[in-house]
Amino acid sequence: MNFTSVQLPRRIIFGTGRVSELGEEIKALGISRPIAVSTPGGANRANAILEASSVVAARFNGAEMHAPAECVERALSAAKNSDADGVIACGGGSAVGIAKAMAVSSYRPIVAITTTYSGSEMTPVYSMTREGAKTGGQSIDVLPKLVIYDPELTLDLPVPISVTSALNSLAHCVEGLYSIQRDPMVDRMASDAIGLIAKSLPRIVEQPNSVVDRENLLYASCLGGMVMTSAGMALHHKACHVLGGTFGLPHAETHAVLLPYVMRYNASVAHHAMSVIEHEIKQPDAPFAIYSLGQAVGAPRGLKALGMPEEGLNKAAEMIVNAPYYNPRTPEIAGILDMLRAAWSGEAP
Ligand code: NAD
Repeated sequence: MNFTSVQLPRRIIFGTGRVSELGEEIKALGISRPIAVSTPGGANRANAILEASSVVAARFNGAEMHAPAECVERALSAAKNSDADGVIACGGGSAVGIAKAMAVSSYRPIVAITTTYSGSEMTPVYSMTREGAKTGGQSIDVLPKLVIYDPELTLDLPVPISVTSALNSLAHCVEGLYSIQRDPMVDRMASDAIGLIAKSLPRIVEQPNSVVDRENLLYASCLGGMVMTSAGMALHHKACHVLGGTFGLPHAETHAVLLPYVMRYNASVAHHAMSVIEHEIKQPDAPFAIYSLGQAVGAPRGLKALGMPEEGLNKAAEMIVNAPYYNPRTPEIAGILDMLRAAWSGEAP
């Protein structure tokens, strides 16, 4: 073996009921005046967590997806007014995204209490959206110092969000398997997570409050976030970035729809990744198997169902081909356009 692996400084607490340790954990981090960040829908959950742990915190419950600049401004002014010395992000990628943008402006450290499968809490990647353009970067300053995963907090995550969020996490693992920076640890984490998602996601659709399956999905999302950080992402993430940033498509849903088509595009050169996936999900033809999994659990069908205009496909293909990034198969315009057309219609890849 011969590899380079960068490991990040952070503490992860995982287990049912462990959110109750929040109070002592933030004290250990030296945080005395935190501000809690959530989406409007997550405000009650955040309040209940803070109250149960006797944590006194200022509140900002207006977090929005893709960290719009105006939303970040509002969060920053709430943090300034309360003289916050730390941020508790309670929710999914949207709450974490606002906390990361605040950390860029020196409101840190971040404690993340994770309630979806986005994996953002595991990455040092931040972004902000201003006038329709999403920009960002990477910094250790925005990496949450502490992440609490308590499966009980995800029992009420609605099934459609659970499905698209878990497929978002699956995408991190699939792209990690054909990344140029993959290493043996990435392979192990990605393959374990793919196996757990394939096993537990269909069960969650049947039984949304199965703690064991919620635990599996949350653990898989943690691994997915670590894979994304270590390995770096490829065509799928670039394409989702274009579709989300330029055409306003929703984050997790776009990942859920597009993944099998990107896999089909890459399959002829990504033999290792495809065989690992086929082994983990115990089915041949990885792109078709992932498509079938998505359809079986009720994932949206086709980009057109997400509001993608058919006349935008050419522009999207050009943007995807012209951006610089690693992918195992060089993106060329005709192939990418075929991929997008198939993904738009929702036909089997
Ligand atoms: P989200 O955070 O917007 O959550 C989706 C919805 O689920 C919200 O309405 C939220 O209130 C609700 N919700 C969350 N937890 C719940 C629970 N336990 N019960 C009931 N409802 C709950 O969506 P997301 O997909 O987690 O995050 C998307 C955002 O994360 C995007 O902005 C994306 O760009 C970002 N992201 C960033 C990274 C990164 O590494 N920087 C990685 C992945 C995603």
